Amino acid sequence: MTPLRHTADTDTGQDKFRDECGVFGIYGHPEAPALTRLGLYALQHRGQESAGIATADGERLYLTRAMGQVSEAFDERTLASLSGDVAIGHVRYSTAGDSRIVNAQPILIDCVHGEIALCHNGNLINAPELRTDLVSQGCIFQTNSDTEVVLHLYARSKAATPQDAIVESVAHVHGAFSIVLLTKDLLIAVRDPHGFRPLVLGKLGDAMVVCSETCALDLIGAQYVRDVEPGEVLVITRDGARSYRPFPVAQPSHCVFEHVYFARPDSLVFGQSVNEVRTNLGRLLAREAPADADVVVPVPDSGMCAAIGYAEESGLPIQMGLIRNHYVGRTFLAPQQEIRGFRVRVKLNPVKNIIEGKRVILVDDSLVRGTTSRKIVGMIRAAGAREIHMRISCPPTVSPCYYGIDTPSRSELIASSHTVEEIREFVKSDSLQYLSLTGLRQAVGSRSGDYCNSCYTGEYPVEAPRDEEAYMQMALKLPGDR
Ligand code: AMP
Repeated sequence: MTPLRHTADTDTGQDKFRDECGVFGIYGHPEAPALTRLGLYALQHRGQESAGIATADGERLYLTRAMGQVSEAFDERTLASLSGDVAIGHVRYSTAGDSRIVNAQPILIDCVHGEIALCHNGNLINAPELRTDLVSQGCIFQTNSDTEVVLHLYARSKAATPQDAIVESVAHVHGAFSIVLLTKDLLIAVRDPHGFRPLVLGKLGDAMVVCSETCALDLIGAQYVRDVEPGEVLVITRDGARSYRPFPVAQPSHCVFEHVYFARPDSLVFGQSVNEVRTNLGRLLAREAPADADVVVPVPDSGMCAAIGYAEESGLPIQMGLIRNHYVGRTFLAPQQEIRGFRVRVKLNPVKNIIEGKRVILVDDSLVRGTTSRKIVGMIRAAGAREIHMRISCPPTVSPCYYGIDTPSRSELIASSHTVEEIREFVKSDSLQYLSLTGLRQAVGSRSGDYCNSCYTGEYPVEAPRDEEAYMQMALKLPGDR
């Protein structure tokens, strides 16, 4: 779910915009709340800003949400207060401007159809229009997230049953949505007809599980059954699961960036091993963009798998020439004293004896604005590298994503207005090469036609917002905001 405002996270030196989420749901397990917490641990990489769990016991819903990571968000007392054998959970990463508890999920409301809680991963393209329309009809919004429109549509639905009302309301939204919903006695999983974001179905004994990635199934000992299919609304009750298909059939458009960067390498997404695809990206990159060099160095953790593939294919040794500090939180105070490259250095530090005097192939998964890469190249140069050949395991990012990966607006994407040579000059490497679009397609294999590559091509499978800048800047104010 995407808040409709973008601001840079300058505290961590992470100058990319991120707003991905992870969703989890389990039906029919006596330890549903605890297993949901575990599932969210496994999905923590998809969002670190807030976490929440809602449960249902057949009578009513229970909810807890907190800012921060899963380990800090729920203690044993909080978990004990969640009753029921059905639960859904969410992890969210948003930008600083929207970092408040009111936007944390699950969002829970009570309406004519009863209580309902919702968790969303993706981005609803037509949310601004729907929201304006709903507000003009008297709706009062509590959050500034796009997701809330689904609940207003639900509350206004005249359908006879909650499940029909859900099917009816999700049919109005366009864009990317992997959603899990909970009523007092139903767990519902919905995936948009293009299947932009991942959503899988698993089984744990008699309990059914839905979640963003299979790594969450692994952690709780559940078996992967299948993907929730694009366009499928899966309704789980005591009597089992039933599928509805309320959307017109569409060409699948799975987000290729899940494979490039976002998902965990130990997950299966869109039925394919992330590690395998990512390593393939590196192998193909080595074939397309070889360099005379001494050592392959990954940018941890994002460039790891591609660097392994690159090293395997090129026959060059791979070494951990950059070490990542995994304990850097989102906020820290920079010292008054000037430290060069502090914001990147706090996270990454070069290993001098690996780098000094060497011709280094530096592998990262993507280059968005180029500012982080420039700092990393500077650090490696300062550590004594003789040459630095930067290799990126995807094509140049030329267009923003409207389907749930939080990228900056087009004007901030360096490759939208600069040639590869100009980007090389900016990052100050000796050479720079990206994987080609053909290489990217080859890496995902025979199903490459089922992927969305819009960030690399500018071709959008679902209509892009008409006024892109206005869309990216739109800030929906909450009551009390100045
Ligand atoms: P830069 O050189 O500033 O473009 O930063 C490149 C780094 O940002 C790479 O290490 C990528 O893995 C990382 N990156 C790319 N896209 C995203 C994203 N949507 N969210 C967070 N990090 C990203």
